[in-house]
Amino acid sequence: MSSHKPSFIESIAEKLRLIPNLHGGTDADLPPIVEPGELTNYPPPDKWDDWVEYEAKSGQRREKKSYMIVPTTCFNCEAGCGLLTYVDKETLNIRKFEGNPYHPGSRGRNCAKGPASINQINDTDRILYPLKRKGKRGGGDWEQVTWDEVLDDIAARIRVALQEDRRNEVVYHVGRPGHEGFMDRILQAWGVDGHNSHTNICSAGARFGYAIWQGYDRPSPDHANADFILLISAHLEAGHYFNPHAQRILEGMMNGAKLAVMDTRLSNTASMADYWMPTYPGSEAAVLLAMASIIIRERLYNENFLRDWVNWDDALPELQSQNRLRKRAASSTEKTMHESYESHEDKFSDFILELEKYYSEYTPEFAEAESGVPAATIIDVARRIGRARTRFSCHNWRSAGSGNLGGWAVARCLHFLSVLTGSVGTVGGTSPSAWNKFKPASYNTPPAQKFWNELHFPNEYPLAHYEMSFLLPHFLKEGRGKLAVYFTRVFNPVWTYPDGFSWIEALSDDTKIGLHIALTPTWNETAYFADYVLPMGMASERHDLTSYETHSGMWISYRQPVLREVARKMGRETTFTYETNPGEVWEEDEFWFELSWRIDPDGDLGIREHFISPYRPGEKITINEYYQYIFENTKGLPEAAAKEDLTPLDYMRKYGAFEVERAVYEKHMDLAPEAQLADAEIDAKHGKVNKNGKTLAVIVDGKARVGFNTPSRRQELFSPTTADWGWPEQAFPTYVKSHIHPEQLDASRNEIVLIPTFRLPTLIHTRSGNAKWLNEISNRNPLWMHTSDAEQWGIKTGDLVRISTEIGYFINRAWVTEGMRPRVVACSHHIGRWRREQDARNNRWSTNQVTIDEVEPGKWKMRVVEGIGAYKSDDPDTSRIFWTDGGVHQNITFPVHPDPISGMHCWHQKVTVEKAHPDDAYGDVFVDTEKSFAIYKEWLALTRPAPGPNGLRRPLWLGRPLRPVEEAFYINDEKK
Ligand code: SF4
Repeated sequence: MSSHKPSFIESIAEKLRLIPNLHGGTDADLPPIVEPGELTNYPPPDKWDDWVEYEAKSGQRREKKSYMIVPTTCFNCEAGCGLLTYVDKETLNIRKFEGNPYHPGSRGRNCAKGPASINQINDTDRILYPLKRKGKRGGGDWEQVTWDEVLDDIAARIRVALQEDRRNEVVYHVGRPGHEGFMDRILQAWGVDGHNSHTNICSAGARFGYAIWQGYDRPSPDHANADFILLISAHLEAGHYFNPHAQRILEGMMNGAKLAVMDTRLSNTASMADYWMPTYPGSEAAVLLAMASIIIRERLYNENFLRDWVNWDDALPELQSQNRLRKRAASSTEKTMHESYESHEDKFSDFILELEKYYSEYTPEFAEAESGVPAATIIDVARRIGRARTRFSCHNWRSAGSGNLGGWAVARCLHFLSVLTGSVGTVGGTSPSAWNKFKPASYNTPPAQKFWNELHFPNEYPLAHYEMSFLLPHFLKEGRGKLAVYFTRVFNPVWTYPDGFSWIEALSDDTKIGLHIALTPTWNETAYFADYVLPMGMASERHDLTSYETHSGMWISYRQPVLREVARKMGRETTFTYETNPGEVWEEDEFWFELSWRIDPDGDLGIREHFISPYRPGEKITINEYYQYIFENTKGLPEAAAKEDLTPLDYMRKYGAFEVERAVYEKHMDLAPEAQLADAEIDAKHGKVNKNGKTLAVIVDGKARVGFNTPSRRQELFSPTTADWGWPEQAFPTYVKSHIHPEQLDASRNEIVLIPTFRLPTLIHTRSGNAKWLNEISNRNPLWMHTSDAEQWGIKTGDLVRISTEIGYFINRAWVTEGMRPRVVACSHHIGRWRREQDARNNRWSTNQVTIDEVEPGKWKMRVVEGIGAYKSDDPDTSRIFWTDGGVHQNITFPVHPDPISGMHCWHQKVTVEKAHPDDAYGDVFVDTEKSFAIYKEWLALTRPAPGPNGLRRPLWLGRPLRPVEEAFYINDEKK
C-alpha cells in the first residue's frame, strides 16, 4: 500500500484515468498497459495473422483491435522500403503502415512518406474508376467507363499501328519505374522500340560519369563500413535511396567514419557533416580533381589497384602526348612544371609521373578560386580520403550531376577518387550498382526489337543516358514523328519537367499525340490532358517487385495488393486486383497482361505466345504464376521457404522481402568462365584475354578474371569511347565549366544562379500531393537567399520577388538565411501543384486553383485564384486545413538544357532576382514557348552527332534500356 496522499488534481486525473492510480490499492483491477510477454520492436511474424493492439482512439477504455499484418513495399520513392500493413479484421480497412523489419534494405525503418501511404489510399479526392475524356482534350470533362471498354479501345488502336508497321508510334513513358524488367518484356512482345523514361531529367549526368569509367551506371556505396564518406548532395535527408543509405551512413559515423558533404545549401545533411564544403554550383569537379592531384602527388594512391585494374597502359601514351602539347603551350614560368623525366623500365612509374603532371594544374588554390571552398579544407579532405584507402565511400546521383552543363564530370571525377584509393568494390568502398541489384528470371523472353526509335535516341546524342524524353515536345514540333498511342505511367511532365507549357501544347494537339493514356494513382497536371485516366494502385494496391543497390547486399521486395492477400487468406479467391481495391483501382501488371492478350486476339501477331502460363500449357498466364516463377527461380529462396514448409510465393507473401546475398564485394575478381575462354588468345604484355577482337578477361594474380563492364574490362581512366565519339578533350576525367559558371553570367543584368533541384525530405514529386500529413509539414517553397544579397536588393523574408529565367518568370516569396551561399539562390521543386477550375477537385492538400491563359500565341500566363483551404468531405481533417500556401510552380519557367554528351537536362538556371512588380501576385508564372524552342535549338547546336566509328548510332558496349538487336545500332542498319 502506498503512503502517497494524492493531490486534488491527481485524484481527478486518476478518476478520469488520465494517469494511473498513484496511491495504490486498486491497480490490479486495471488492464495492463501492454500484453504480458517479451518486449519487441515489431510484432513477431507468427502473430501477423491475428495481432491485437489497443485502439489508439479509445483512450483509457483500452478497446482491443485485431489486425492482420501483411507486408508490402513503399511506392513513394525509389528506395523501395518495406512496409507492414495493418488491416482491421472486423472492417477489412487498412489502418496504418509501419516498417517491415524483414526487409534487408530498410530494416524496419521508414521516412515520413512510408507511413503516409495511409493518407494516399484514403484520399477522398482520388480517382476510383477508369475515366474517358468527353469534349475537347484538356477541357476537364470526363465520363466513367469500364475496364473492358478501355482495354478493347486501346488494344484495337495498338493492333492497327502494329499491322501498319507504325511501331515507333506506340510509346510507354515511365515516371516512377518498377517491375524489374516487366515492361521490357511487354514492349518487346509487342515488337516496339517504345520505352521512354524520366532518367534524363534525373540521373543521366551521374549515370554517364560512372558508365564511362566502368560500364555500370550507378554507385553502390558501403557506407556502414567506410572510414571516410563523401557525399555530393543532401543525401542524408533527400538523396537517392536516402532512408537505407542514411541508416548506414550514421552507422559508419558511429563507428568513427568522418563525413564530408558538398552542398551549396546548409541542408540537414551539411549540418551533420564533419566537413561542409559549400561549393559554387558546378565547381565540384574542380575540387575533386584538386583532391585527386593531392592523392597522386603525395603518393596516397593504391598502387596495386591502379596497376591491375586501370587501363593505364592505354592512358600512358595519351597522357604523354597531352602533356607534351601543354608543355608547348605553356609559358616559360610554367615550363618547369612540365619538365621531362627519364623514362623508367617500369612503365607504370612513367604513368604515375605523367598523371601527376596532367593533374598538376588542379591546385587547391585553383579549386578554391572556382568553388569558394578553402584550399586548406580541400587538402585536409583529400588526405583523409587517401588515408581511408579502400574504406572510402562516396555518392553522387542528382545534385551537381543533374544541375550543370558537364555535370556528368562530377560523378566521373568523384569515381576517380574511388579508383585512386582502390575502393572500388571493397568493404567500406563503392561498388558498381549491378552487383547489388537483383535480376529476376523470366519465364519467357521475347526477341529484341529490330529497329531504333529516333524520337527517344536521336542521332545528336549518341552517348546519352538515356532517352531524350524532355525534348519530346520539341521533336514533335519539328515534325520528327508523332505518337498514335502514348502511355504515361506515374509520370507528370507538365509539372515535374522543365518547359511544362511546351508539354501542354504538345499534349493538347491530337495530330501529334493520337491517344494519351495516363496510368496514375492520383490526379496530376499531365492527366488533365489525357484521353483516358486510368487509376492504378498505391503501395498496398498492386503487384510489383523491387530490388535496389541500397548497400553491400542484394535483396528483393514484393509489393503485393494487401486486401487481395487478406481475401485469399480468408478463403476468397479473386481474378483481378481491382476486385479488392477501392472502387475499380487496378494495377499495371494485370493491365498489361490483359491488354497484350487483346491486341493479338488470334495470336497472328506473335504476341500471345509470350503470355502463356509456364505451368498450364496454352493458357494465359496469371499474376500469381508470374511471381511464382520468379520466386521459384530466385537463388536461395526455395530453400529458405522449404525450411518453413512454404512455397517460395507463400514465403514472399508472408515476409514481403528476401535477402538474396548478405554481402557482395570484389566481383571483378571472379574467375572468367572456362567455356568462354576456349580459343581465346592471351596478351601477356597487357594482361588480357582476347577473342574476336574483344577483351574477355583480365589477368590478375596469374588468373583470368571477369573485370568490369568496359571494352578493356578495366576501369577506363582514359576513355577511348569519348575520344572516338567526337570528344577527345574529355578523354580523361576533366572539369567542365558549367553553363552557370561566373564567366557565363551577364553582370550587366546582375544575373545570379538559381538551384532549383533540392528536395524536401517529406515530399516526393507528384505522388505526395494527396498525403495530408506530408503537406501539413511542407507546404511552401520560398526562395532561399543569403542575407548579404537580400540587403543589397532591399528584400526581407516574406517579400514578393520576381525571378526571371531565360523564357519567363515566376513570383515567389523570399526566405533570407545565412544557410545559403551568397550570389546563389535556391528553391525546392516539390511544391507548387495546381489545378484549373474545370479540373476535378483533387490533391486539395497541395493544389492551388489557377487560371491559365495563352495571352498571345506561345505566351502563357498562370495566376493563382484560390490557395489551399479547408473544405468538407468524408475526412474530418479536410475541414482542419490551416495552411493557405500551395507554393509556386517554378519548373515550368525553365527552358530545356540538354547536355550535349550525357543528354542530362542541366537544371540550374541563370536568373535575375528583383522585387515583384506592382501587378505581380504570389504564384504568378509567365512563359514564352517560342523562346524555349529557340533555347532548345541553341543547346542542340552544341552536340556532335552520330555516326560514330563504323556508322554506329551509339557505342555497342554502352547500356540502353530496351536494347534492340545489334543491327539497329548502325545508322544504315548494317555493319560497316
Ligand atoms: S525512403 Fe522512400 S521508399 Fe523508403 S519509406 Fe521513404 S518514401 Fe518510402
